[in-house]
Amino acid sequence: MSLTGKYDQQNIFAKILRDEIPAAKVYEDDHILSFMDAFPQSPCHTLVIPKQPSRNLFDTDPQQLLAVMTGVQKIAHAVEKAFSPDGIIITQFNGEAAGQTVFHLHFHIIPKFSELTMQRHGRGQIADMQVLRKQAEKISAAL
Ligand code: AMP
Repeated sequence: MSLTGKYDQQNIFAKILRDEIPAAKVYEDDHILSFMDAFPQSPCHTLVIPKQPSRNLFDTDPQQLLAVMTGVQKIAHAVEKAFSPDGIIITQFNGEAAGQTVFHLHFHIIPKFSELTMQRHGRGQIADMQVLRKQAEKISAAL
């Protein structure tokens, strides 16, 4: 699968953007959407995506990337304020070989709590939507 292949309108994040499937939304503006990862590697694992379609970093418009990165910083500040983790890991994967599983650009904001073992990328268990919605509300309130 090429890093700059065709964008698939049926990918799961495109469906979330079209409100075809539910998500625990944290924040939304003209350029970005943030919501809770449904299979968190750590509690309060949050995602930030651009609204404009792109598969990954390599086919993203630079202006959109600026908006996404500004959003990542903004949401990461709110996650820090809401949950006081000991650290925050920010990741982004390009291409299947690198571990990317959803082909719509996204950044992971993963709080690290010293007393908890983090799940490996792609190994998280499905989370309860009610729990995710409560976490999303808390992050929104900290924005
Ligand atoms: P990546 O493997 O970097 O492409 O990340 C995709 C992320 O999307 C993973 O962390 C998944 O847990 C997450 N994910 C998959 N399906 C959903 C969904 N329906 N809602 C929220 N997050 C999802």
